[in-house]
Amino acid sequence: MSELKVPVDLLPSDPRFGSGPSRIRREVIQALAAPGSVMGTSHRKPPVKDVVHSIRSGLAELYRLPAGYEVALGNGGATLFWSMAACSLVAHRSANGVYGSFSRKFATTLQKAPFLADPAIFEAPAGRLALPRAAHAVGTYAWAQNETSTGVVAPVQRPEGIDESALVLIDATSAAGGVDADISATDAYYFSPQKNFASDGGLWVAVLSPAAIARSADLTSSARWVPDILNLTLAVENSRKDQTLNTPAIATLVMLEAQISWLLEHGGMAWAANRTHTSSGVLYRWAQDNPLTSPFVQDPALRSPVVVTIDLDHSIDSAQLCAIARENGILDIEPYRGLGRNQIRVGTFSSVDPEDVRALVACLDWILERMPRVGA
Ligand SMILES: *Cc1c(COP(=O)(O)O)cnc(C)c1O
Repeated sequence: MSELKVPVDLLPSDPRFGSGPSRIRREVIQALAAPGSVMGTSHRKPPVKDVVHSIRSGLAELYRLPAGYEVALGNGGATLFWSMAACSLVAHRSANGVYGSFSRKFATTLQKAPFLADPAIFEAPAGRLALPRAAHAVGTYAWAQNETSTGVVAPVQRPEGIDESALVLIDATSAAGGVDADISATDAYYFSPQKNFASDGGLWVAVLSPAAIARSADLTSSARWVPDILNLTLAVENSRKDQTLNTPAIATLVMLEAQISWLLEHGGMAWAANRTHTSSGVLYRWAQDNPLTSPFVQDPALRSPVVVTIDLDHSIDSAQLCAIARENGILDIEPYRGLGRNQIRVGTFSSVDPEDVRALVACLDWILERMPRVGA
């Protein structure tokens, strides 16, 4: 235990800064237990189906969906969607941008599928970005809008020179709801709800183009065996009825619906993007101005507005800094375990109040001034 007790008046009003699962607004958690809550009722009946309907129409409004695009959802999170895409969306071969753990996991999933050719990999080291480019015999292009393991944000646009029939799949798990996107440039814009949508894990949600829906109908009725849970066409058919193939986590649906409505009430994606930009800006400026810290992502254009990674001087031990923060109630600023750097990672998702980020910075300054130095 450290002796360092951060003064209470410096502490943020909500001390959760995780990059997923992320902070869930307290009033949303309380609403789950309120009288009239749909918890413990059938997902095939109107009260829960209305929640699913509101999620689908709310997302359509939030992201201004072009005509013909549909919102589908099901169980299993973005990780399940990777396997679903392998079965239901990739016909022969994909091209993948790989620049961190999450973008790599999707590439690996596709590489393991015995019925697909190995993906064309466009790779960059952690902290940088590589987008897939037009490649031979490739009908699907994939990358992550926000690489949560490194804090790199990527543009969402159709790669130049790709076939007209090619699909663009964007992993928007930690971007959707906090970073805007032009959905017309994508065919599947998919995410899990436990990041900017401040809900719990367990579900995947995907915004699908007519071309993606048609590709899935083709592949799932072909000779390829597709398990029902990985069949995107079945998921679309259920979603059209405001249902899911099998029983969903109803609390996750309720909290997702509450967050989408909350974002819309405050001004939609423009408001959310402005808020995450403000919060992350506070941290990036601090990291630049403080001699003990620096932003991990060198190129300012690639710095994520929703997951901020900050390198620490070698005289500061990140594990010790995070432990002292934790003893003072400040949670989940530890770095991504796989990255192995002496750094902190802070989720500045849309539910995080910029005032809390300013308070976090004040707390970090206070701790850094007093904590022991490595080798001292
Ligand atoms: C968190 C995350 C995932 C994995 O989401 P699960 O819900 O755990 O499957 C995938 N991609 C990105 C970019 C993520 O941030």
